[in-house]
Amino acid sequence: MTRFSPLFSIVSTLVVAAGVVAADVGYDDTPLLPGGTWRVHDGRRPPPPVVRPGRVPGAPPADAVVLFDGTNLDGWETTKGGPARWRLVDGAMEVNGTGSIRTTRGFGDCQLHVEWRAPAEVESSSQGRGNSGVFLMGRYEVQVLDSYDNVTYADGQAAAMYGQRPPAVNVCRGPGEWQTYDIVFRRPRFADDGEVVAPARVTVLHNGVLVHDAAPFLGATRHKEVARYEPHDDALPLQLQDHGNPVRFRNVWVRPLD
Ligand code: MG
Repeated sequence: MTRFSPLFSIVSTLVVAAGVVAADVGYDDTPLLPGGTWRVHDGRRPPPPVVRPGRVPGAPPADAVVLFDGTNLDGWETTKGGPARWRLVDGAMEVNGTGSIRTTRGFGDCQLHVEWRAPAEVESSSQGRGNSGVFLMGRYEVQVLDSYDNVTYADGQAAAMYGQRPPAVNVCRGPGEWQTYDIVFRRPRFADDGEVVAPARVTVLHNGVLVHDAAPFLGATRHKEVARYEPHDDALPLQLQDHGNPVRFRNVWVRPLD
């Protein structure tokens, strides 16, 4: 290993250099790209900002807002107000019947990483089995459910846009196994008169598998009704559902997107 170290340092130097200096490696005689600002391979084009990634896959990158790191419920409150009182256990927070919780801070467009685990012990069935939910802006639910060998209605299973759109595939892990949601959310846009200019959209990867691709929400999540929009603020708390099942969450982080 040691004898490769110089090579590694040369490679890493080149990688850093490529992010900072480009003028002498780009071109100024190439065609303009649509929009007319930059040429193909334009050496003057600013490089993207450097963001330090998480140390391991799934860990929060340096520019993320860490919403839950396993140690405390700071930054969360019950949806009725007051401190969140979910149970802290083994670096996770567990639904315990004290009600749904939400972030004290609001978010609009964002990238969200959530890890969740349905109870290892299977009790009940269908919607009664490992039910919780990730409510973007407190309104638009990506369903959490133990959908491993569990029959329920399609638009209510794990990773469904609840009551609206089933996931493209069911990639649910078994009861008691940790699972990931990686979500890109675009909030709805409303005109001044409340008309929907653009619906909310969500891209969801469940355990790394694409299950929704910029899919539009019909409106705020409803039970046994067709969803509909009501105008709201541009940033609202993210909510996690207490549906009465001891579902656990860990490693929750978000990157607001401008
Ligand atoms: Mg739910």
